Amino acid sequence: MSPQSYAKQREIVIQWLNTILPDLRLPTEASDEELRACLIDGTVLCRILNRLSPSSPNEESSENSSVSQPENVKRFLATMDESGIPRFEVSDLEKGSMKTVVYCLLSLKLHFISSGEELSTLSTITKSESTDDDGSSPGSLQQFFGEEMRNAFPGLKLQCAMHNQVISEPSPAVLKHVGHKFHEVFQLKQACYADLPVTKILEMMESNSLEDAPTQALLNVVYGILDETAETMNGKIPHHVACLLRKAVQEMGRRLSTQADHLRTQNNLYRAHEEKHRSKIKELEALVSVSRKETKHVTVQPQQIRTQRKKNISWFSTSTLLKCFRPTSQTANSILEEQEVEKQELMKLVRENEKNILELAAMRQELDIVGMVHKFCSLEMEAEAKAAIAILQLKIKELECLLADSNNKVKELEASFESKCQSWTMKEKIYQSFINFQFEAMQKLKSSSEAIKQEVLETQKRYSFEFNHLESKLKAVTDASGNYHEVLKENHKLFSELQDLKGNIRIYCQIRLFLPGQTEKLSTIENISENGQLVIANPSKPGKDGQRSFKFNKVFGPDATQGEVFADIQPFVKSVVDGYNVCIFAYGQTGSGKTYTMTGPTGATEEEWGVNYLVLNHLFKVSQDRKSNTVYEVAVQMVEIYNEQVRDLLSSDVGITTITQPNGLAVPEACMHPIISTSDILDLMDIGFKNRAVSATALNARSSRSHNIVTVHVRGRNVKTGTVLYGNLHLIDLAGSERVDRSEVTGHRLREAQHINKSLSSLGDVIFALAKKSPHVPYRNSKLTQVLQSSLGGQAKTIMLVQLNPDATSFSESMSTLTFTE
Ligand code: ADP
Ligand code: MG
Repeated sequence: MSPQSYAKQREIVIQWLNTILPDLRLPTEASDEELRACLIDGTVLCRILNRLSPSSPNEESSENSSVSQPENVKRFLATMDESGIPRFEVSDLEKGSMKTVVYCLLSLKLHFISSGEELSTLSTITKSESTDDDGSSPGSLQQFFGEEMRNAFPGLKLQCAMHNQVISEPSPAVLKHVGHKFHEVFQLKQACYADLPVTKILEMMESNSLEDAPTQALLNVVYGILDETAETMNGKIPHHVACLLRKAVQEMGRRLSTQADHLRTQNNLYRAHEEKHRSKIKELEALVSVSRKETKHVTVQPQQIRTQRKKNISWFSTSTLLKCFRPTSQTANSILEEQEVEKQELMKLVRENEKNILELAAMRQELDIVGMVHKFCSLEMEAEAKAAIAILQLKIKELECLLADSNNKVKELEASFESKCQSWTMKEKIYQSFINFQFEAMQKLKSSSEAIKQEVLETQKRYSFEFNHLESKLKAVTDASGNYHEVLKENHKLFSELQDLKGNIRIYCQIRLFLPGQTEKLSTIENISENGQLVIANPSKPGKDGQRSFKFNKVFGPDATQGEVFADIQPFVKSVVDGYNVCIFAYGQTGSGKTYTMTGPTGATEEEWGVNYLVLNHLFKVSQDRKSNTVYEVAVQMVEIYNEQVRDLLSSDVGITTITQPNGLAVPEACMHPIISTSDILDLMDIGFKNRAVSATALNARSSRSHNIVTVHVRGRNVKTGTVLYGNLHLIDLAGSERVDRSEVTGHRLREAQHINKSLSSLGDVIFALAKKSPHVPYRNSKLTQVLQSSLGGQAKTIMLVQLNPDATSFSESMSTLTFTE
C-alpha cells in the first residue's frame, strides 16, 4: 500500500474521530506520532466505544482517569475481538508503525457506518454468525457487510441491489417480487400512461416498483411520458422546448449508463481481486495443512525411531549384545548419526513450519487489510452512487417541475390560443360579412359603372356628333355674327334714318284722370284718336266752334298705365345704350301729373314706378344682357334748377354751375353715383327726393316751381374691339307751365314766374330751332337749355310728354300747354 493511500486512510480516521468526539479537535493532517499521543492512554479509545455503544457497561469507567492505561487499551481490544474487528497490538500503540491502529479504527468506523447499530448488538450478531461460519476468519467484514446488513436494513435494499447489480437491472428475485406491476408500469410499449387510472398508478408507486425498477425502464418511462405528452400536446409544446427536454433526459440516461458501466467494471475488478485473494488463502491453507501433516509426520518419525531403537536396544541386550559388540557399536553410531541428521531435519522443518505460519499470518493480515480497503472503497462507491442517484433524482424532479411548468404554460397558451381563436373567428365573420357586403357593393358598382361607361360612351358619341354639328352651326353663327355687326350698324343707321324721318323730337300727350276727390267731372277732352289726334272742347263754347284738334305722336288716355307710357319710350332708352343722347321732358301745368309720370306716387309699387325708374331699370337690364360683348358703367346725377340756379340733389351743395367739357358737352358739376343694381336706383331717387324736400320751405309750391333733372350716364366698352360708346339720358320733370298774371304776383313769386317762363320759352326756342333744323340753336338763353345742351340737337332724341289736366276749369291752361307744343 502506498504511503499516500495510508495517509488518506489516516485522515479519514481522524475526521471520523473528530466527528464522534468533537472536543478532540485533532488536526486532519495529524502525523502518526500526534495520533499516538492522543490514543496512547486508552481514554479516547474507551470514549469511542461509549459513543458507539452508549449502553455499554464501560461507560462509567471509560472516562475514569483512575483506570490505568493498559486497562483501557485492553478493554478496547477485547471489544474489538468480541466484534470480530481486526485489532492491533498494545506494542503497536506504544511504538513503531500506527498502520494496524489506523486499520483497526477504520474497520470500526466501517462497522459502525454499515451496521448503524450499537456495537454490542452487532457483536452479538457477529458472534452468532461466526459460530455457524465455515471456519473463515472471525474478523471477515465481507460476510458482515453482505447479507446481514441487508437483512438488518431493508431500506438499503435498492442501494445494495445497485451496488451488486451496478444500477443496471434489479436482481431477478426483485423483479419477480415486483411481478406484473413492473411490466404494467415500465414495459408499456405504446404511449398510454395517460389512460392508466390514477389509483393504479398510485398503487404501483406505493409498491416500491419505482425503486425496484431498472434504470433503463425508468428512463423509458420518462421517454414514454415525454413522447406521450408531446403527442397529446399535438405540437403545442414549442419544438425547440421538446427537443431540449428530450436531449436533457437522453444526456442523463447516457451519464447514468456510463456511471453504471464504470461501477460494473470496478465491481468486476474488485471481484477478481477478491477471487484472487480467496484462492491465495486457499492455497495458503492447503500449504498449512500440508506442513501440519509433515510436522506431525516429523514428530511421529523420531518417536518411531526411538521406539524402534528401544526395541533394538532390548533385542541387542538380550541376544546379540555381546556377540556383536563391535559391529553393534558401529550400528549404534550410524543410528546416532542418522538420528542427529533427522533431528536437524526436523529442526529445519519446524523452523520452516514456523516461518510458513508467520508468512500465513502476515498474508492473512494483508488479506484482511485488502478486504477492508475493498469494503471501504465499495462503501465509498456506494456513497458516490447514492449521491449520484440523489442528484439524478433531483434532476428528474427538476425535469418533472419543468414538465409541469411547461404543461401549465401549454395550458395557458391553449387558453389564450382558444380566446384568440374565438376573437379571430369573430373578426373573420365580421370581415367576411363586410367583404361580402363590399363584394356585393362592388358588383353593383361594377354593373353601374358598366352602365355609366356605356352611357358615357353613348354620350361621348352623341356629344362628338353634336360638337360636329355645333361646329358647323358655330361656323354659321360666326359668319352670322360677322354679319350681325354689319346688320347692327345698318340697323342703327336705319333706326336713325327712321327717327330722322319721324323726327328726332317726339311729343306724346297724356291725359290725367280725374282725381278721386274731384266732384265736378266736366272734361275738356272731346276725343282721343289712335293716330295721335286729340280734340279739345271749350266748355264755354259748346259745338264745333269750341273744339280744337291737336296732333301728337301718341295720346295716352286717362286709363293708360305707366307701363304703356314707358313701352313707347323704351326704344329710345335702348338707343342710349347704343351711344345716343336722349331727353325726356314732362311738360304741363302744376297738378297735371308730371311728377306722377316721371317718378310715380310716393311709396310706389313696381307697377306704379314712374318713367325714371323704368328707364333706369331697363338700361340696367340691357347693359346686363350685353355684358358678354360690352361692359357698361351706369352713373346717375340729380340736380334741380330753381330761379336759374343748379343744385345737386345727391349732395347738399347748392349753386353749382355747368362745366363745358372739351368735347362741347355741358355737364353739371354734380355728384355722379354709379349704379350696379335696380335697388341702387330706388335708393338714389329717395335721397334726391329727401334733399329736395329739406331745402324746400313749401314743398308743393317749390317742387312745381323748379325743374328736376335726373341725368343718366352710360359708358359701354366693347370687350373685343375695346371701342367705347357714351350716351346720356336726361329725365326732366319741368316746373309748372301755368302762366302767372303779372298784376297778381310780386316779389319772389314774380321772379320765380319770370325764371320759369324764360327757361320754358328758351327750351321751346331750342326745340323749335332744332325742329326747323335751324343753324343756330339758342342753348345759352337759360340754365335749363345749357344743362341739356348735349342731349338736344344732333343725333340726340327728345321726347316731350305733354301732361293735360282734363278738368274744364283748366281749359285755358291746357290750351296754353297744347299751343306750346305746336
Ligand atoms: P304736377 O307734377 O304736374 O304738378 P302731380 O304729378 O303732382 O302734378 O299730380 C297731381 C295729382 O294728380 C297727384 O295727386 C297725382 O297723384 C295725381 N295724378 C296725376 N296723374 C295721375 C295718374 N295718371 N293716375 C293717378 N293719379 C294721377
Ligand atoms: Mg310736380
